[in-house]
Amino acid sequence: MTQVINPSTGAVLTSVPGMGPHETDAAIERARKAFESWRKVAPGDRARLLRRFAAVVDQHIDELADLEVRNSGHTIGNARWEAGNVRDVLDYYAGAPERLTGRQIPVAGGLDVTFHEPLGVVGVIVPWNFPMPIAGWGFGPALAAGNTVVLKPAELTPLTAIRLGELALEAGLPPHVFTVLPGRGSVVGQRFVTHPAVRKVCFTGSTDVGKAIMAGCADQVKRVTLELGGKSANIVFADADLAKAAASAPASVFDNAGQDCCARSRLLVQDSVYDEFLALLEPAVRAFRVEDPASPSADMGPLISSGQRESVASYVEDADVAFRGTAPDGDGWWFPPTVLLAHSTGDRHWREEVFGPVLSVLPFRDEEEAVRLANDTEYGLSGSLWTRDLGRALRVSRAVETGALSVNSHSSVRYWTPFGGMKQSGLGRELGPDALHSFTDVKNVFIATED
Ligand code: NAD
Repeated sequence: MTQVINPSTGAVLTSVPGMGPHETDAAIERARKAFESWRKVAPGDRARLLRRFAAVVDQHIDELADLEVRNSGHTIGNARWEAGNVRDVLDYYAGAPERLTGRQIPVAGGLDVTFHEPLGVVGVIVPWNFPMPIAGWGFGPALAAGNTVVLKPAELTPLTAIRLGELALEAGLPPHVFTVLPGRGSVVGQRFVTHPAVRKVCFTGSTDVGKAIMAGCADQVKRVTLELGGKSANIVFADADLAKAAASAPASVFDNAGQDCCARSRLLVQDSVYDEFLALLEPAVRAFRVEDPASPSADMGPLISSGQRESVASYVEDADVAFRGTAPDGDGWWFPPTVLLAHSTGDRHWREEVFGPVLSVLPFRDEEEAVRLANDTEYGLSGSLWTRDLGRALRVSRAVETGALSVNSHSSVRYWTPFGGMKQSGLGRELGPDALHSFTDVKNVFIATED
């Protein structure tokens, strides 16, 4: 049994049994059997079942959100969005089964057609920072494409995934089509990598574990999608709407207490407006409300664990603190929003993914230097740039090596647009119109028409 802790109080919420190797194997075997019938469900019926699943999730938004507030310390506003995102992803991919069309390719002497065949059992491995959306981005398109799914939530945050597994059955999905298997990464997650019936692993988590999973999958040429870490840049040019850029910068990095792979944790400000920008940023950071995440006015809750708080604090200890917000004292893993001045790109807080409410700031001279500094990282997940010059916006958008970029905003995630990383931030894309295909293999069939 693993204890599940409320990070706002440090109190034990409940305990959840962790699956062992035999239980995991048995569940994978049941999913393999279920695949044989699930893949044959008529496209319209599969679509209807997924729409029903979406509708049942919609009826339980409040319950799921409340569970996430208590298990993960997410603000109630975020948690409601996250549960709604699961519903929306299911609805979006419910439109896919009848549209999963192949091609007809002109050939001599016959007919050539392609099919997008489901893979089999897909293993989805989820981190603790966004338990609901990241689960849905895996199981939504995987199920729509005709696969069955085994899903392992993170040890710290299993509760909403377990509930989603129950809601799938309530919605009428056949047993073993979608199975949630709480447990340790080294046991359940690792078995997804090594079990031959699991034909794809869809992993979101740290870059180190992702690399090990990719190496493990190579042994069976197993398909793999990786969504890994980030150290995204927020680039503010002197010609930007500085007030707007400053007002939105705190949420772009402190949202979810900075435990966000898309966090814009490196702020690059053009030197001619550097002082002016920091003067605008300071009140916005101080106004960022860190409080009981169940309160509707909360901008940010606690960190996920005491270990995470220790890790985040280690980046601040010897750093040059520009200014900080406030956080509650007492029980729970609270940490105030913190802005650090970087003195060189070698500073540890500038280079490494902190995964906490810490923003590092560095000035730049011109466009060329901004792009060079933004790209001076092994990561490439997300990022933003602020300018009123359209040509520059396009030049810099093309030059920054990152998978999802926003100009004059900080949005990275819409369920109908692609999401994923360049460089060591990941492999493959989730969401959007193409994600479905990454849960299928193309089969080409030639039918001779000659006598
Ligand atoms: P983690 O890599 O420690 O764990 C992620 C998941 O993998 C957990 O479910 C864990 O149990 C499992 N796992 C651990 N070891 C495993 C193994 N050997 N085999 C199989 N599974 C194993 O990451 P975390 O600490 O839970 O999450 C934080 C990290 O996730 C951050 O680095 C963050 O950037 C990244 N992340 C990336 C994205 C993205 O979309 N790119 C999204 C969210 C989080």
